[in-house]
This record gives sequence, C-alpha cells and structure tokens, in this order.
Amino acid sequence: MDNIPIASKRHTSYENFVVECPWCGKESIFNRASDLCTFEPITGHDVLCQSVECGKPFCIVGDSVNSPHEMLIFDCYELIERKHYMNCILSLTQAYEVFFSLFFRVELLYKPFSTDPDQELAKLNQLSEALYEKIKKYTFTPMQAMFLQYIVTGRSPKNLLEAAAMVAALPECQVNPKDAAIESLGDGKLVPLLKALKATSIHRMRNRVVHKQAYRPTREETEAALKETRSILFPLTSHLQLYDDINWYMRKP
Ligand SMILES: [Zn+2]
Repeated sequence: MDNIPIASKRHTSYENFVVECPWCGKESIFNRASDLCTFEPITGHDVLCQSVECGKPFCIVGDSVNSPHEMLIFDCYELIERKHYMNCILSLTQAYEVFFSLFFRVELLYKPFSTDPDQELAKLNQLSEALYEKIKKYTFTPMQAMFLQYIVTGRSPKNLLEAAAMVAALPECQVNPKDAAIESLGDGKLVPLLKALKATSIHRMRNRVVHKQAYRPTREETEAALKETRSILFPLTSHLQLYDDINWYMRKP
C-alpha cells in the first residue's frame, strides 16, 4: 500500500470536508475542527476511511479557497435543499458579520502592516488583539454602520501606528451614513452595492428567527435573502479585494 489513492471532495462546507472513499465508495465526513484539526484549505491531507469495515487510508485534495463568509453563503444551498430555512437566515446574517470583521482586519491590520516600514509582528499581534477587543461586542447594526462610515470617510492607515490610532478611535455607536454621502463617493460599481448593504433587512429577519417568536421563514423568503446576500457580498469582496490572508497583501507590489 505504498500508493495512497487520492479522493477529491464530493462536497465542502465551512465546517466539513465530505468525500467518497476510493476503496469502498462510502461517504466520509471529515470535520475541520475535530477530524482534520486545521482550518487551512485542504490540499493533500492523509486520512482514514470512516467506515469501520474499511478504514483504509487515502489522501484528500481539492478544497475550496473561499473566504469564511463566502463558505457560509455556499452552505446555504444545502440548508435550503434540506428545508432548514431558519438556519439559512442565521448563516446569511453571520456571513455579513464575518465579512465586516474581515474588512476591518484587512483595512486596519493586513494593509497597514504590508506598507509599514518596520513590519514588527509583535505590534501586529498587539493591534489584532486591540481590534478584536473593540469589535467583539458589536452586533450586526453597529458593524454595518461602522463599515459604511469607514468607506464614506475614505481614510486608510498607511502604517501600524496610524492603524492603532484608528482602532482606538473606532466609535462606540454609529448611525448609517446618508445616501447622499454614499453617492458622493462617485464610484459607479461601489455606490449601488453600499446602498443595497445599507438597505438590507436580513438582521431583522434573523432577530425574528432567534428570539421568542422563533419565526419560521418560507422557502421564498429564504431564497430571496440568499440571492440578495450573494448579490451584495460577492461583488463587494472582489471590489474591495478582501482576502483572509495577510500574505496576499505582502505580495502586492
Ligand atoms: Zn472506505
């Protein structure tokens, strides 16, 4: 058994990597946290078939390389297929929150670090901790407002010192900018995306689902929410060049 066969993914999600065993053809579900013990994309990981009658080794490859918020959105197709519409609304709202958090990591950590003259890792870690402390208590609404205000203000820190000052100054309570302020950005692609993000009501539906009312959305409501989320977050991620990997910014000329 020198040659371990390769099994390509059948399906990947934010939490799991699902494959068909090349020996017995049965499905194995490898959980990223418990079974694979890594959240890095899987590009060649030796595993054992989870069927007790088989248990033979194979190598798994071909993971998706999407950011966490994109994976949460893709997971919704399976949730809709299984008619878990409540979970789908939770995942979509969480995708926005994860997106906002990624945006601030990129803007206040990754980019200023990549252009910082000293690039001290200790300072980056310290600032990362400070940013986490600052935004951990924020729910959807303040994160949404902070994101929109940040873009409308249009000031990006050039080094870690400037970034630290901006993290410290992130306001406690914010309101969404006026449409006129968003429109004044004058970017024909960005403006409609920001206005759509400002107008979304996904968090209100999420609140109806999670609170006492335990609202059960219909398929139509859920599919509309998925479509809207995709149409806002996917193009914004690409327009703002958001990658959940500091190395991507280090390589940039
Ligand atoms: Zn097997």
